[in-house]
Amino acid sequence: MTERQGGCLCGHIRFRLSAEPIGARVCWCRDCQRIAANGTVNALFPAGAIEITGTPSEFIRTAGSGNPVRRRFCPQCGCHLFADTPSYPGVVVVRVGTLDEPSSVRPAANIWRASAPAWACLDSSLPAFDGQPPRAAPPEPVRSDERSLWIAASPAQVYAALCDADRVARWWGPDGFANTIHQFDLKPGGSWLLTMHGPDGTDYPNESRFTRLVPGALFEIEHLNSHHFVLTISLQADGRGTMVHWRQTFDTVEHYQRIAQFVAAANQQNLLRLQAEVLGASGPAPD
Ligand SMILES: [Zn+2]
Ligand SMILES: [Zn+2]
Repeated sequence: MTERQGGCLCGHIRFRLSAEPIGARVCWCRDCQRIAANGTVNALFPAGAIEITGTPSEFIRTAGSGNPVRRRFCPQCGCHLFADTPSYPGVVVVRVGTLDEPSSVRPAANIWRASAPAWACLDSSLPAFDGQPPRAAPPEPVRSDERSLWIAASPAQVYAALCDADRVARWWGPDGFANTIHQFDLKPGGSWLLTMHGPDGTDYPNESRFTRLVPGALFEIEHLNSHHFVLTISLQADGRGTMVHWRQTFDTVEHYQRIAQFVAAANQQNLLRLQAEVLGASGPAPD
């Protein structure tokens, strides 16, 4: 996965995106024309995957779709960067032109074509909608934190670090956490009990159940106490390494949204700790 960065004209607002876009399209609604002087090119990302520095100003207005849309922009240079609406919870719209590498995202449709100016140049190879696309077209509300990391080791080597309780105790959790594993009954339905020790000395008892285990390919648990979620780690051979896909799915959009920023940071740190454990044990793959 590519990490993307971007920012406003003056540099007051900078942002980082740690997930792939859910979708991207060009919008020709009149509101977009007013903020962009033509259509806006918009990419949709999971809200938990964006990290913003600087404080944007915001303006909320009901859009042509009937949804209240919050548009966020730089208070110093006026550059528009983000939008969101409660009707698509868990999703943040990023103006593609504000990315440092705008070519890294390709719009897949034109929307609100009917209000495009006569001179507008629309890519005829893309689907176009006269107004808001049908309700089925927008993305599902997001209730998962998803991220990927390429690790220079084989899927079997990565899987080995997931399945050995002593090794899991070394890498499990965000930065600064240590673990005591009480039970690690590695089979579908088997119980995993551990106490996570936070950097400030707080102990967090954790109870999970293994749900799906496929050697070298899939490791999945259901977390049972406090925050209920399913964590799915899937492994895919990719060149001289493994693409590790990490997906933490909560029961509801609301639950995910409440802690999206926290779990995004925690999961990214956890993945990097897994990488360090795998590479520490196996060494980097030979060139
Ligand atoms: Zn600015
Ligand atoms: Zn628009």
